[in-house]
Amino acid sequence: MDGNQQVLPLAFAIIDEETYPSWKWFLQQLSQHVIRGRREMCLISDRHGGIIKVVREGPDFVSPHGVHRYCLRHVCSNFNSNFKNVVLKDLCWQAGSKYQLRKFNRIMEEIKKQHVRAFAYLDQINKEEWTASHDGGWRCGILTTNMSECINENLKRARRLPVSALVEITLERTVHYFRVRAIMGHKMLQNNQLWMDFACKMFISWQQKAVEHTVTKYSHSQQSASVVTRRQNGHGINTHVVKIANRECSCDKWNQFGIPCSHAQKVCGAYNISVASMVKDYYDLMAYNNTYSKHFESVQSEDYWNDPNFQLVHDPTIRISTRPGQNQTTRIHNEMDWRQTRARQEAQQQGDFSIQENMSEDDC
Ligand SMILES: [Zn+2]
Repeated sequence: MDGNQQVLPLAFAIIDEETYPSWKWFLQQLSQHVIRGRREMCLISDRHGGIIKVVREGPDFVSPHGVHRYCLRHVCSNFNSNFKNVVLKDLCWQAGSKYQLRKFNRIMEEIKKQHVRAFAYLDQINKEEWTASHDGGWRCGILTTNMSECINENLKRARRLPVSALVEITLERTVHYFRVRAIMGHKMLQNNQLWMDFACKMFISWQQKAVEHTVTKYSHSQQSASVVTRRQNGHGINTHVVKIANRECSCDKWNQFGIPCSHAQKVCGAYNISVASMVKDYYDLMAYNNTYSKHFESVQSEDYWNDPNFQLVHDPTIRISTRPGQNQTTRIHNEMDWRQTRARQEAQQQGDFSIQENMSEDDC
């Protein structure tokens, strides 16, 4: 993902099926050609046994070099496949998405009260890997793989095409993303923004919220203070502890997003500290523009390609039927597919053909 919370396409692979060997090959290629020794990498994926096994073999996504985190949507879906209870599934999502430990603990207690086995199921998954409250700031607020699946959704339509066509479509799509983002970056620069849209919106929204808080200074050397929030929209009064010198607030949002939360902004104001200088440099607009200013070479006519020294042979066992419903995928469907199919059917009945799980292509 880039600093504007959009997918930054880095590598693609076409494989027969998701297995341990295919994941091993892909992650080795990624390590060799993309990661190339870079540290502090965070991989977010589903809990496919093949990925987990390869990742543990290290080193890129194993502490202290990097981490592996699970997509919360997949965790909730697997949880629901086991217990088939939407109330519990909702609680699972809430537990995984809360940033504050006290809120996570409260929801887990509720799950335990409702279903002891469901609690035990979640309790045995390493909390660092599926909850925002134990993550330590690696996810940058990204809880799911929804964004990358938006790209998969586009490619899924092309999966029965010849490999060369798949590669061509993937390249065209990637060039399109880079071109659109380069234009977006230029516009943000013209607006005199310091950071990308995502960071600007979050910073301003927390700045407006900070006005409502009251602050009590504690230690000048640590630039620490306690901040009391006002009761609003049914939410209670909370107290948060901010230590500017350590770049931390007990709400944990500063740590997660790299942008001073409303509490931190209030304390910065109280100590006369420039709050803009505390925003992480990965939101820097120049970095965004540098990334997307790179260009791709156009692909020449096939007549100019090098001879590959092999012959392409059609596999006669693959037959594509023109009848609807005949070209079924061999992928094992899970609870999320059924939900998606149901949502699509309902949308079609209502005449809304644009449904994509609340994801627009521009957000990808
Ligand atoms: Zn805070």
